[in-house]
Amino acid sequence: MSPLTHLVGSWLVAVATTNNPRDRKLVTLAGVLPDADGLGAVADVVGSWITGKECTFYYYQTYHHLLLHGWPAAIVISVLLTSFGKQRGRVFFLCLLIFHLHLLGDLIGSRGPEVGDLWPICYSEPLFRHPIWFWKHQWKLDGRQNQTFFAVVFATALWLAVKRGFSFVEIISRRLDAPFVKVLQKWRHQLWKIKDWATRQNFGLLV
Ligand SMILES: [Zn+2]
Repeated sequence: MSPLTHLVGSWLVAVATTNNPRDRKLVTLAGVLPDADGLGAVADVVGSWITGKECTFYYYQTYHHLLLHGWPAAIVISVLLTSFGKQRGRVFFLCLLIFHLHLLGDLIGSRGPEVGDLWPICYSEPLFRHPIWFWKHQWKLDGRQNQTFFAVVFATALWLAVKRGFSFVEIISRRLDAPFVKVLQKWRHQLWKIKDWATRQNFGLLV
């Protein structure tokens, strides 16, 4: 799945399972950090730009879904994040859980453009080659199922943000989060006003 789906989905789980902003952020990060092994794409593009050679996406192809998408990375990332946590036992367990939800999401929805472009989960990489897991019905990364899933997750996150007064933007910056949530709350207020007006109009017609 896309990094944005992982971010918003992981934040939703973190909101439901933690009771303070720091642990919420750490648990959310456990669902996002596995995709850091795709940052080789940046090195590929920059390297190609500097050397003028064709971009082959060597680092991306070599490391993405292999370096940080198995149990070794699950342990390293969870231990690392837990060291910053408040309720450490809980944070460790939740980091492991959400990391594996990321793997499950990728197993379900990370297919490339062609039917045969299945993206496997190599659960013991980078230490061992096996086991390798595929799901032959894997959703296309930019396909209809992934788009629908993202829309549901995103709408739920916006609804929760308006209700709670903070959103997934807090993972990037808490300073940016405050105005973002204010705009959402303003929109909800305007929607209510429109709804009230429409209700009054209908009532007037009935009378
Ligand atoms: Zn991933």
